[in-house]
Amino acid sequence: MARDECDNCGMRLTPEDTHCPKCDEHRYAKNAKKTFSVDIAHNLQTVSQAEQQLDIAIREARDQQFGKLRVVVGRGIIRREIRRSLDTAVWQHRIRDYQVEENNEGAYILRLESGK
Ligand SMILES: [Zn+2]
Repeated sequence: MARDECDNCGMRLTPEDTHCPKCDEHRYAKNAKKTFSVDIAHNLQTVSQAEQQLDIAIREARDQQFGKLRVVVGRGIIRREIRRSLDTAVWQHRIRDYQVEENNEGAYILRLESGK
């Protein structure tokens, strides 16, 4: 999912570049203010599949330095069961915290420990 160009100056980046060789902008600097979004509940997932998708999404969002991760959990069993995974992720410092999305109880907003 790596992009090829610097957000700041347009310089072509190789897959190994974490910073732009021309202007030194971090590859994912702009992502810190953005939200990565994933739906883990509307493709007939089991709870354990949803938990796996959550773990993968947290890893991807962290790797790309996103500030927040929005997780769509629907209104069924996944919504209830995923809280355990979210609590674990907080305890393991993979996310800072999480809360129900404003005006939409079918999604959680996770704040990530980004910028490291
Ligand atoms: Zn640049």
